[in-house]
Amino acid sequence: MVIELIPKAAGFVYGILAFAALVWLWRSGRFTRRRAVPFLAASALFGFLVFAPVFPYQFQVLVLGDAAALGSPLPMALAGLLAFIVLTLVFGRIVCGQVCPAGAVQELMHLLPAPKRGRAESRVPTAVRAGVFVVFLAAGLGLSVNLLALMGLSAFFNLAVASVSFFVFLGIVLLSSVVYRPFCRYVCPYGALLAPAASKAVYRLRRTDACIGCGKCERACPTGAANPSAGPGECYLCGRCTDACPVEGALTYTRAGREE
Ligand code: SF4
Ligand code: SF4
Repeated sequence: MVIELIPKAAGFVYGILAFAALVWLWRSGRFTRRRAVPFLAASALFGFLVFAPVFPYQFQVLVLGDAAALGSPLPMALAGLLAFIVLTLVFGRIVCGQVCPAGAVQELMHLLPAPKRGRAESRVPTAVRAGVFVVFLAAGLGLSVNLLALMGLSAFFNLAVASVSFFVFLGIVLLSSVVYRPFCRYVCPYGALLAPAASKAVYRLRRTDACIGCGKCERACPTGAANPSAGPGECYLCGRCTDACPVEGALTYTRAGREE
């Protein structure tokens, strides 16, 4: 369904605007899961219409040096991907939360009322994703193999239903109704770069003195990132914890030392 007449740049312009709007929502304390839904829907739509900004795939074709598939000169694509890593160092994984179409379709699927499975801790998925990252680089740089195309990322958003790989990613998307973001947490090579950046993020969700220690945020969190002992690397800024918190101001998106 990707419409070739629409330049991929439109997807990146959308990504920048959505990112800025989401930062504003978080910084102003107005972010809620309900307000995130239009962003998720728009991001998914851009994925199907433009196939951008599908960050992991753009990273994949950058590794392959395929400027034609990128729709932009390689240096510009590299600068764009690096810029979003720097933005993640400041604001956390807002890209993953609601901007990336691959993340958005999984997040939307997880909203379905299906029984939820999977361990809400971040070590196992992170270790698997690190291993996949090594394979991804070796396959791309050493063998010029497009691993993410084999997994159906492009076939899915192109609705290439005649391709076997379409059904591979469709399976991942269907699985995400039960398991939280299986592609992001176990596979995504760009997420493997964003997670360490987010673990040092300037702005992140922090507990304040108003916290009563009820643990509702931790029980609501699908990745374990709401646990104070876990870093924010696997926080997708989904808003489940802030929506679940019963005390206003107990959990805020802020800089260190600004918890009030
Ligand atoms: S982890 Fe990867 S696929 Fe998931 S939202 Fe982030 S960039 Fe997109
Ligand atoms: S800490 Fe968990 S529940 Fe809260 S925004 Fe991050 S991933 Fe979502």
